[in-house]
Amino acid sequence: MSLVQRSKREHCPQCGHVEVQNFLLVQPGEDVQVFVECATCGGFVARYTLRLYTSHDPYRSFLRLMRQRRHASGAAALNESEAFAKKLWEEYRTVKERARVNEETRKLEDLLDEMDGPI
Ligand SMILES: [Zn+2]
Repeated sequence: MSLVQRSKREHCPQCGHVEVQNFLLVQPGEDVQVFVECATCGGFVARYTLRLYTSHDPYRSFLRLMRQRRHASGAAALNESEAFAKKLWEEYRTVKERARVNEETRKLEDLLDEMDGPI
């Protein structure tokens, strides 16, 4: 088993297209759930449960993370937020580039099973 980084676009299991739309379910006391639907055929693609959400505004997302950790303050937080945003944009560039150049072809569930290891 290889533990190299992998990247892929989400594909519809029915029609294989990559155009999707997300529906967010936000309920008090529950993790946010993301339901992914194929924008081409309308088929159900997947559901994700969010542990950490990062928007196009990484500073705001970072502040939420700090509130959750209860230690947002001063210059240290600013430096950490800049590092958080830098890492976000690096990962975003990387995931898109890997998907473009060497896209993973296995299903996400297969990759998750691989990461979990043998049963
Ligand atoms: Zn589809």
